[in-house]
Amino acid sequence: MPARTDNVTDPRLVASLLLMRRGQAYWARSLAELADDRFDEPSLLPGWSRRHLVAHVGFNARAVARLVEWARTGVENPMYASDTQRAEEIEFGATLPVEALRHLAAHAAVHLDVEWRDLPEAAWSHEVRTAQGRLVPASETVWIRTREVWIHAVDLRNGASVRDFPPELHDLLLDDLIRVWTRKGVATERSIVLEPVDRAETFVLDAVGQGTGRDPLVVRGTAADLVGWGTGRSARGVVAADGGAPPKAPTWL
Ligand code: ZN
Repeated sequence: MPARTDNVTDPRLVASLLLMRRGQAYWARSLAELADDRFDEPSLLPGWSRRHLVAHVGFNARAVARLVEWARTGVENPMYASDTQRAEEIEFGATLPVEALRHLAAHAAVHLDVEWRDLPEAAWSHEVRTAQGRLVPASETVWIRTREVWIHAVDLRNGASVRDFPPELHDLLLDDLIRVWTRKGVATERSIVLEPVDRAETFVLDAVGQGTGRDPLVVRGTAADLVGWGTGRSARGVVAADGGAPPKAPTWL
């Protein structure tokens, strides 16, 4: 019988699941408020209409659910067979009628949530592989989906804004930016220092190679606006140390 509650006791994981579900609700609300005849319009992502975006977020839930299933059964089940398969699935999804896209979005999310609820506590630490090929504990799937639903709500261009995200999500995303840029070995010639004016902490990406002697690029703004800049979603409210606009941030995801 499916569990009615999560099998988790770790308070951090409980909080992660809550933040993910708030994000899922945020995304679902933005989508519910989007009229059928506006699905053909562009999303914020280059080359993607809102149809592509909705298809992607739905298929992403299915892909994340495969990882959770992998953790539960122990049988390897990758997110996607290949990058090509992932791209073809999105192209196909974008051709679906609006009703089918809404159906996909809703049902894939419910299915993913059921997979999480049915995951025994011990299996949350079972290792699975992300689409980028990293081995991570199954608990990481919650963050993978959290990022998707909140950020893609903004990409839907239907009123959602990084400024409306909860403050704890801003902190997690600033950490994530530094972590992803570091992992990708972003060829930064200058260190990047993110200085949120509404936080005590700064977030630093160290320069690599010959750039290590140069002045760092300091970018200031609220934590929310730094998230907007760092994720490439907005340039509002951020300034460089000289008071001018900072250059484009390195690519995040
Ligand atoms: Zn995505």
